[in-house]
Amino acid sequence: MKVLVINCGSSSLKFKLFDIEQSDTLLAKGLVEEIGRTQSRFRYSSHRMKNGENLTQQVTAENHTAAVDVVAKTLLDPEVGLFEDAIRVDVVGHRVVHGGEQFSKSALITTGVKKVIEACCDLAPLHNPPNLAGILACEHIFPGIPQVAVFDTAFHQTMPRKAFIYGLPYELYERYHIRKYGFHGTSHEYVSLRAAEILGKEITKLKMVTCHLGNGSSITAVKFGLSIDTSMGFTPLPGLVMGTRTGDMDPAVVLFLMEKEHLDLKAMNDLLNKKSGLKGISGVSNDLREVMESAQHGNARAHVAIDSMVYRITKYIGSYAAAMGAIDAIVFTGGIGENAAAIREKVLEPLAFMGVVLDPEKNDSNDREKAITTDDSPVKALVIPTNEELMIARKAKAIVEEAAG
Ligand code: ADP
Repeated sequence: MKVLVINCGSSSLKFKLFDIEQSDTLLAKGLVEEIGRTQSRFRYSSHRMKNGENLTQQVTAENHTAAVDVVAKTLLDPEVGLFEDAIRVDVVGHRVVHGGEQFSKSALITTGVKKVIEACCDLAPLHNPPNLAGILACEHIFPGIPQVAVFDTAFHQTMPRKAFIYGLPYELYERYHIRKYGFHGTSHEYVSLRAAEILGKEITKLKMVTCHLGNGSSITAVKFGLSIDTSMGFTPLPGLVMGTRTGDMDPAVVLFLMEKEHLDLKAMNDLLNKKSGLKGISGVSNDLREVMESAQHGNARAHVAIDSMVYRITKYIGSYAAAMGAIDAIVFTGGIGENAAAIREKVLEPLAFMGVVLDPEKNDSNDREKAITTDDSPVKALVIPTNEELMIARKAKAIVEEAAG
């Protein structure tokens, strides 16, 4: 089954085309950037092109529909395309950031589903509108092809009320749906499933903590295959110290700063989401590699940034082990989780008391997917490259098959 996976941001569209059968082959992938400008950038590569070769060109894409049209035309191009006379895609899978409390799994897109995605725009004003624009664009360009929404929040809908409710007056939850939702769900689900495969155990018997550490970072307690708690919340701001986001903080600081620094809502929002985290503490960059380099050159603030990021990751892993009453495995993924061996080592070092025995050689090896603890370590730690698009493709396939009976 051929599945086109679409991930629309406000000015970008990423896509991957998979053949989802036994081998889950990636057939093509690409990106349209700077949608809405006079000139947009388009990058494309397919399995028929030589390794490392890609097509890069300027295109006109005044909106998401025009961007999807660029993708469709390329897939039909006699030289670089994959189809001859018509696009033979069986289903389009869309990444949708927020599904509110309505979606605990992926959904075949209908008028009703689109209405709910629209209603959730309030909860994710930067993400859901472009996600919806991508759905409408694909309906227009690929009429008659079923479309499936795969929500970042859905995996976390299994969290119990005691984990998702905030200590606010309950009426505010009822009135505005203010609660913990959590994000990166597709990634946490993918790596937890893959970890169970690697460990050769049933996921329904495993207690895991999955750490998605990138520019945005979150940690999830996955008990018997279900998310029971996660570090992001109502928005993707809380939890870990991230590239530019504060993570957990006393909310009273917001009131204090708005008064002292005369900040309006937008300025406060920018401060919390764009000027904080690694960037704010170090004063160097949101990019961990640059912060690490600066720390090596003796920048004390860069050290503080790294140490506070690491400390909080360790603390979350420990608290989730307590929440589950035990822990079998810790999984690292995302740009930092997959590549920064030194950070993994620092995170795991204080967890030796729980039975995490790091194997430094494995941790430093070049393997992309690997166990990094010793063979007899009571708690295993694994590195697993995430693949959200593949997970979306598999889910989209499952939903259309289910709908077909
Ligand atoms: P996003 O959340 O935007 O998808 P990524 O998952 O690509 O981000 O992660 C980006 C982060 O990963 C950056 O902070 C980058 O510095 C970090 N990173 C990537 N490679 C390495 C590495 N080899 N060592 C340390 N950090 C790395």
